[in-house]
Amino acid sequence: MTPVHTLWFDQALLPDGWARHVRLTIAAGRIAAIETGVDHAPGDERHVAAVPGLCNVHSHAFQRGMAGLAETRGPADDDFWTWREVMYRFLDRLTPGDVEAIAAQAYVEMLEGGFTRVGEFHYLHHTPDGRPYANPAELAERVAAAAEATGIGLTLLPVFYAHADFGGAPPKPGQRRFISDVDSFAGLVEGGRRAIAALPDANLGVAPHSLRAVTPDELQRVVALAPIGPIHIHVAEQVKEVEACLAWSGARPVAWLLDHHDVDHRWCLIHATHVDAAEVAAVANGGEVVGLCTVTEANLGDGVFPTADYLALGGRFGVGTDSNIAIDAAGELKMLEYAQRLTRRSRNILVAGEGGSVGSALFRGAIAGGAQALGGGHAGVSGGPGGLSVGAAADIVALDTEHPSLIGRSGDALLDGWIFAAAGGGVVDCVWRHGAKVVERGRHRHASAVARLYSAALRRLLAT
Ligand code: ZN
Repeated sequence: MTPVHTLWFDQALLPDGWARHVRLTIAAGRIAAIETGVDHAPGDERHVAAVPGLCNVHSHAFQRGMAGLAETRGPADDDFWTWREVMYRFLDRLTPGDVEAIAAQAYVEMLEGGFTRVGEFHYLHHTPDGRPYANPAELAERVAAAAEATGIGLTLLPVFYAHADFGGAPPKPGQRRFISDVDSFAGLVEGGRRAIAALPDANLGVAPHSLRAVTPDELQRVVALAPIGPIHIHVAEQVKEVEACLAWSGARPVAWLLDHHDVDHRWCLIHATHVDAAEVAAVANGGEVVGLCTVTEANLGDGVFPTADYLALGGRFGVGTDSNIAIDAAGELKMLEYAQRLTRRSRNILVAGEGGSVGSALFRGAIAGGAQALGGGHAGVSGGPGGLSVGAAADIVALDTEHPSLIGRSGDALLDGWIFAAAGGGVVDCVWRHGAKVVERGRHRHASAVARLYSAALRRLLAT
């Protein structure tokens, strides 16, 4: 028998706006019916305010374990490239068990913060000395196991990584756990497909790491391995990367990509930080999504994507926690707006029209773009149109309207209070993922057990 249950909310954010007295019927993990303007009925679980869960479009889960370990000044100017050296040293020690334990901790924190689906940009494939595991998809299976244990929706994006720089430069020793040729990568994609097969509404795509790490020929062949799934790529995160691309091809990275590929709605351009006006317009007018990871981009000193210009042209975006330096859905949205305020010396920028709520515009934008980026827009995949709609996965967040920053608010003001005024967290009360309640009173149901395994892994890793 299919389990059916009902949730009733005093108010809920539906695709066409806030509605009052909303009753959701959940069956087999999906929203089977939505009624508005109805009284609660016996058996309904009642809460005050519901919003859809957010998609985290870009995560490297294992990096949660090194969060905060690269904040010490080095001998010269520190930047993304010196951070990457710290990251390479950290990942050199990770066992499959460590990868699973760290990913589970990251996914618990994502769910507790309001993310219900993650796009795992999974590039750690091999043993520390660079050989394949006996099961080449061992680490993809560990990521899938972490998703299963925590309940988070998973879009697995196996990463193809072959070169250290433009022009097919040979990889560096620190990259040996990532490296594949296209044929062995095809096996990793198939292994990834098997790894997620038992997970509810999981999705599989591919991720050519960056234009630095793949040749044009490899990029064509890797993209062909995902005839329907999402395609994610890091692009234009660094000025040095833009300069190297210009030297190699005469074109900037985003322009090169758009010139050489049919970049459609299945593509998600991660970062796209350094783009000129023509590139901004071309991406905004295309069907793709930009994956913005502003907390990580701030932490790494990457730069600021011209979000205001892009949104004014109708561009779509999702948000991601990338390095997982701080896993905070509301914090990602806040930083998106604050980066614009700091550079433009103005306020309330990323919303169109007088009277519009910034928090609501950001939240709704991230819901729509995130669903597209992780679901590929295909029927039958979680996300679909995004939001609380009939047929969508029951990925629901109930807010604690007794939180000091939410008291006395309703509708869009709840989102503004959450995103801009609740720096300490604590706004997420309950989270349902695929219909199951995984977070209650702000705490994941397996948080303690997951934290114990994470703690043991980290103590050992950091003691060596
Ligand atoms: Zn990344």
